[in-house]
Order: sequence, then structure tokens, then C-alpha cells
Amino acid sequence: MSDSKFSTHTNIVTDSNSSYGRSRESISESDSNSSSIVNSYTDSIKTTSEKRVSLTKDCTKEELIACLQERDSLKIDELIQSAYKIKAENIGKKVYLRGVIELSNICTKNCYFCGIRQLNSNIDRFELTENQVIEASKIAWESGYGSIILKAGERSSKRYQNKVTRLIKTIKEISGGMLGITLSLGEQQKEIYQEWYQAGAHRYILRIESSNPDLYARIHPKNHHHSWDRRVQSIMDLKEIGFQTGSGVMIGMPYQTTSDLADDLIFMKDIGLHMVGMGPYLRHPDAPMSKLITENQTLDLSLKMVALLRHMMPKINIAATTSMQLIDPFGRERAVLAGANIIMPNITPSGMKSSHQNFENLSRVKDYAGESKLKIENSLARMGIEIGWNEWGDSKLT
Ligand code: SF4
Repeated sequence: MSDSKFSTHTNIVTDSNSSYGRSRESISESDSNSSSIVNSYTDSIKTTSEKRVSLTKDCTKEELIACLQERDSLKIDELIQSAYKIKAENIGKKVYLRGVIELSNICTKNCYFCGIRQLNSNIDRFELTENQVIEASKIAWESGYGSIILKAGERSSKRYQNKVTRLIKTIKEISGGMLGITLSLGEQQKEIYQEWYQAGAHRYILRIESSNPDLYARIHPKNHHHSWDRRVQSIMDLKEIGFQTGSGVMIGMPYQTTSDLADDLIFMKDIGLHMVGMGPYLRHPDAPMSKLITENQTLDLSLKMVALLRHMMPKINIAATTSMQLIDPFGRERAVLAGANIIMPNITPSGMKSSHQNFENLSRVKDYAGESKLKIENSLARMGIEIGWNEWGDSKLT
């Protein structure tokens, strides 16, 4: 990526104060010593109480770092409350629902943090039939969800591409064009994105996971199939085609510093995303990265990230992600109060779900999967928050 807007990444890696610079070990399939690597992430967020949280509309990196490091609960509350106010003033208080349908948990990639990576033989693989996807879409439509997300691991066979195209067309047909379709199907050739856009999908989510190419390289195998540049190019392709384009990062993962997170926020603003979904990194027991210790699996840092991004990008869509819900029973609600405006209940047919998120607490996953329309409605109503039933809830950023 040659765009000078992203040149800050180089600076971070060479920052001698960063925890990144102090922990250069990498992960590999055979790395049996990785459990001894102590994550130095928490070192990088030691309190500096003399620093004040100070925000301007165009936050500097230094201001972002100060906010991310802030531990004074009153100041953190101020940050979160002002983010909610900014959301209410710019895009209203409504929350929009996206029913997530997992088409398949088959993936051709091997990201080190992911439980459904190709080399994990400990999970049962599935692929929904077209009828199952259509049925789930009908339920979403009849329940008043304005949109669905078709989500799956990354695959690129012609049969699979054609299946997705047929599904998009059929879902549009059965809902009279009214059900919004978001795709989250990984990196594809630009022509394929174009085909799916023309078929009727209008939003696409492709998470960058980290805006730091060096950190990205440490959490992925080193080959063209897992290239940061290729991923950024895909995001650009999606924007160029006309998709409302979403991305996001993991928060609190091994090797990551506060500086990385501040750069993530700047990256998301600079690239002009319409939607962002980010949440706490959660270890998946079957993923190689789970051997690395990380002590920052809390929601608080993610809430700060949401609140800061809302300050920086008042009009975009920000998701209260599944990982927030997995780490805290009220994670979704707390994210909404910090500036998020999208909730994504998993409506995949029962028994066929396997989150792309990484998790250890399976009971919470089961709880999440059991969510109902009523449960969501009640929980948001208690907070005085209205749901945008039957609305797409597109990003106001054009
Ligand atoms: S993160 Fe996505 S692309 Fe990577 S292994 Fe998991 S499902 Fe596949």
C-alpha cells in the first residue's frame, strides 16, 4: 500500500517504546514454545494519570493514545457519554438489526487466530443448502429485520460463487427487493464482487484485523494468500464498485500496542469506511494464537475504541459485535451506549452455527445463539432505544 495516508504504520513498528518492539517472536504451525511468550500488550497501557483525556473533532494520534490509556472512570464515562450524544445528534438513537446467516464454516485460509481455519480438524464443517438460506432469509424478513448478512469462510470456486449469486437474486426476489443484503465472504476477485453487487448485495464487510502490516503478518501465515496489501486492495475494490464497505479490527490481541490501536482508528477514518465492526480478541482453543497469553480480554478497551471512532466518524455504522457479547453478557448494550448502532443476531438454522469469532466460553455462545427478536427488543427498550424495524439502516456516510 503506497498511499502516504498510511505511512504511520512504519513509524509504529520502529517505535522503541512499543511492546511490539520487545516481542518479535512469530507463530508457526510447529511453534511449541509459543506458550512461553508473554504478551506485552498490557505493558503498553500502563496508566499515566497525569495525562488528560482531551478530544478534538479531528483527534490526533497522541490524543487517541491518551484516551485509550485513560483509567479514570469518570473521564471514561465522559468519553462514552459524549460518543452516544454525537451518535444521537448525527444519525439518531435507533439501532438497526442485521440477521447473520452463516452459509458455511469451510475456509481455505489459515489465519492463526481463527477457529475455523482450514487446518483445524477439530470442528464439524457445514454448508447450508440454498433452501436453508432462503428459509432463514424469509424468517428474517418476516420478523422485521431490515437486512441480513451472508457470512462464510473464504472460498473462491466457481460453484460457490454461482451459488452466492443465485442466493442474492432469490433473496431479493422473495422480499420484493426490500431485504438489504450484506456479504462477508472474504477476499474475492473484483469481477466477483461486481457480479454479487449487480445481483443485489449492497454492503460488504472485510475485516482488516490490524492496520499495521507487520502485526498482520504475525497473525497470518506468510504467503500471498494472507497478504495485508491484497486485503487493503480488496477493500478499495469494494468501495470503487459502490458497496457500502465495512471493515474492522481485533482489540487486545497478542503483540498489539496502544499505538497500533490508535493507528487502527486513523486508518479506518482515512480509508473512509461506511461500517466498522471491531471487538475484543478472544482466544479460540484450536487456533495457534491461543497459546499466546493475553491479559487484555476485557470489554473496556473495545468500548473506548467504539466511542473514539464515533467521535471521529459521526455518521458511519458501528456494530456491537458478537465478541463483545461473548465477553460480557451486556456487551452489546454497553457498546450501543458507547456509540454503536448496529446489532447482528445470528439467525443461522439451529445446529449449523459456528462463529467466525474466537471464543472460549461456549456457554455464552449458546446464549447468544438463542437470542430472539423479543429478547433484543426488550433489552433495548429497557435502555429507551428504538429498533429500526424493516429499515436497511445504511451508513449516512456517502
Ligand atoms: S479469519 Fe476468516 S479467512 Fe481467516 S481462517 Fe477464519 S474464516 Fe478463514
